[in-house]
Amino acid sequence: MTTIFDKIIRRQIPASIVYEDDLTLAFKDVNPQAPVHLLVIPKEPIPQLAQAEPSHQALLGHLLLVAQRVAAEVGLTNGYRLVINNGQDAGQTVFHLHIHILGGRPLAWPPG
Ligand code: 5GP
Repeated sequence: MTTIFDKIIRRQIPASIVYEDDLTLAFKDVNPQAPVHLLVIPKEPIPQLAQAEPSHQALLGHLLLVAQRVAAEVGLTNGYRLVINNGQDAGQTVFHLHIHILGGRPLAWPPG
C-alpha cells in the first residue's frame, strides 16, 4: 500500500529532508511535538515494526545508527527520545515504519 512517506521518498510531495542514503531518509515531522521532531524511515516500505523480518536485521540496525547520527547533527546534545508507534493502540497513523526523534525540551515519562 502506498503511503504519504512513499511520496516523500519519490519527491512527489515536499518535505524538509535532513539526511538521505541508499536505504533511509530522515525529514522533519510536519506536526512537531517537540522543538526537534524528525522521522527516520527505511526506503523499503515495511508497514510496521511487527511486519519486519529477520532479513531486515541490518536495515533495522542501520535505522538506529541513522537516528543517532541525525540527532547529533541537529545538536541534540542534551538527550532525545526515539519512538516507534506500532499499530492502532500505539497511535500509528502512517503505515510505513518510522522512528520518531524527539528532543529540544525535557520529555515526560511515562508517555501518554
Ligand atoms: P505515527 O503516528 O504513525 O507514529 O507518526 C506519523 C507521523 O507522520 C506524525 O507525527 C505526523 O505528523 C507525520 N506526518 C504525517 N503526514 C506527514 C507529511 O505529509 N509530511 C511529514 N513531514 N510528516 C507527516
